[in-house]
Amino acid sequence: MCGIVGNITNKPIKDLLINGLTELEYRGYDSVGIATIGSDNKISIIKNKGKIKDFANKYQNKSLQGNLGIGHTRWATHGIPSETNAHPIYDSDKKLAVVHNGIIENYLEIKKDLIKEGFEFFTDTDTECIANLISSFLKKDYTMIDSITKTSERIIGHAAVLVISEYFPSTIFGFKKGFAGSILVSKNNGEISISSDMQALGFDVGDYVVLEDNEIFLANSNKVEIYTDKKLISKEWKKINEKSELVTKGKYKYFMEKEIHEQPNLFSDNFSGRIDFVNKSISFIDEINKIDLRKFKRIHLIGMGSSYNACLLGSYWIEKIAKIPTVCSNSSEFRYRDPVIEEGTLIIPVSQSGETADTLSASHLMKQSGYDQLSIVNAKNTELDRITNNSIYMRANKEIGVASTKTFMSTLQILFTIALYLAQNSNSKLINNKLFDDYKNIPNYMNNILDNSELIKKISKKYSEYSNFLYLGRGYNYPIAMEGALKLKELSYIHAEGYPAGEMKHGPISLIEDKMPVFAIITDGVYLNKMISNIREIDSRNGNIIVLSNCPDKLDKSWYSDLINFDYTDDNFSPFLSTVCIQLFSIYIAMERNLDIDQPRNLAKSVTVE
Ligand code: GLU
Repeated sequence: MCGIVGNITNKPIKDLLINGLTELEYRGYDSVGIATIGSDNKISIIKNKGKIKDFANKYQNKSLQGNLGIGHTRWATHGIPSETNAHPIYDSDKKLAVVHNGIIENYLEIKKDLIKEGFEFFTDTDTECIANLISSFLKKDYTMIDSITKTSERIIGHAAVLVISEYFPSTIFGFKKGFAGSILVSKNNGEISISSDMQALGFDVGDYVVLEDNEIFLANSNKVEIYTDKKLISKEWKKINEKSELVTKGKYKYFMEKEIHEQPNLFSDNFSGRIDFVNKSISFIDEINKIDLRKFKRIHLIGMGSSYNACLLGSYWIEKIAKIPTVCSNSSEFRYRDPVIEEGTLIIPVSQSGETADTLSASHLMKQSGYDQLSIVNAKNTELDRITNNSIYMRANKEIGVASTKTFMSTLQILFTIALYLAQNSNSKLINNKLFDDYKNIPNYMNNILDNSELIKKISKKYSEYSNFLYLGRGYNYPIAMEGALKLKELSYIHAEGYPAGEMKHGPISLIEDKMPVFAIITDGVYLNKMISNIREIDSRNGNIIVLSNCPDKLDKSWYSDLINFDYTDDNFSPFLSTVCIQLFSIYIAMERNLDIDQPRNLAKSVTVE
């Protein structure tokens, strides 16, 4: 969600800002804009609704002078996506411009006060309050740092903001309040680069610093200063040590398609340092060294979206395999329900981006209450890393497709491995040679699905025109049913619900008819007969059933319309394989419907607002 960039440079400023924004494109957005200050010390803004490439085309002949600028990809919260509402946004006098990530919850009240003071508003955004508030304090002769401090104090909500002003034409200012995405400030030989994430900094060498809650910075070619409570502070500068990798689609048409196909290799990568197949043991060497996982009596997993679905499955695995009481919460609910957490509970927040606002707020609350935490994240050096102080990484590299696939798989694998690790510590009989053999084979079974995906494509085509789907599963297959429904919604804009199959008779069954296909996940294990009864009930009501199964020989062909099958494994492992099938089913339906696979409408990869 929303990307922020800023540069002070000797290179052509417009191209540099657009390149930075392009690096952040994967986060999801609906409009684009940049502001620069030229040698005449005047601010110029160009902006547009829509994609970066359309923006670049529209303004290809517009030259912007100067060596300082800020840029933004907006994900609208207040006001429709439009050229007017796109950032950067001027103050009333057009003497300063801001870009903002987040939401100002008390913007109406501030707006009313400022209108009384004579300020004018030209957009529908909450952001305009920030520009005019800073301007109002500057007019009262406060310094820029004091004006920003007062603005930050006045607003309620979350904000990551950059500010440029004609009064200080060589300086970029910025501040951070709460959780609205990161701001990284980097310097290299008198040049400054600011960005929402590491990859978009544009420097392969140099130093960077991460802005924390309630910090304000000023940066020009001579210095970078960080303030909190109006006092200059010294912060630790880190060396940039990651070359920004160029991610391409390779032989695939879409990033997401490639990411689905990367999963077998990623799965094998996630074994290393964790699973010792020779000595048959599980550990997290060098990964979990600040806390002893064995001391916890309970576990509470928190996440949103696909991470939540992964947490739900993780809670089933940890309870079943390690016998440790484990629950899972949606971060946005957890945060505000005054959760009562027993002592001796380990909190595990999960966020692919490490920036999910709801999960950050929930994790922050747990930090204030003194609980130990272990986060599962993909992006390193992110806010969640810093809050929890203990992280296990998904090792998934950059995931460009907005809908999570490989990071969902990595999260599953990490949670499963944690379950095994805890079971090993209690000498569980489950940790035997067969388990290691089965685990090692999962990437091969995934490849079998991917190599034979033509059948899934054919079935997807048949169902691509339907408007509603019901996904059903029991036990481990219930979270996968949820994830299947979520993927279908995200990618193909088809209404889909994931339910525990046992719940079907308590309401959803009234929806059953031939125009509402039911996607039933049926694997061999304790739930087999129950699931068979469920699909028989659906069939008796003229339902249209697609079965996803690893034991088709135990089902009668007359019970369903279509079958997708995958290799037989112990039930503990089947979610890794059914996941690949539900991902392929969704992407093929979306491809059939000709939709934007990598950037579905309205969605954002880093959900930095609550
Ligand atoms: N709330 C602001 C707006 O709607 C910023 C949204 C964002 O984070 O992109 O303009």
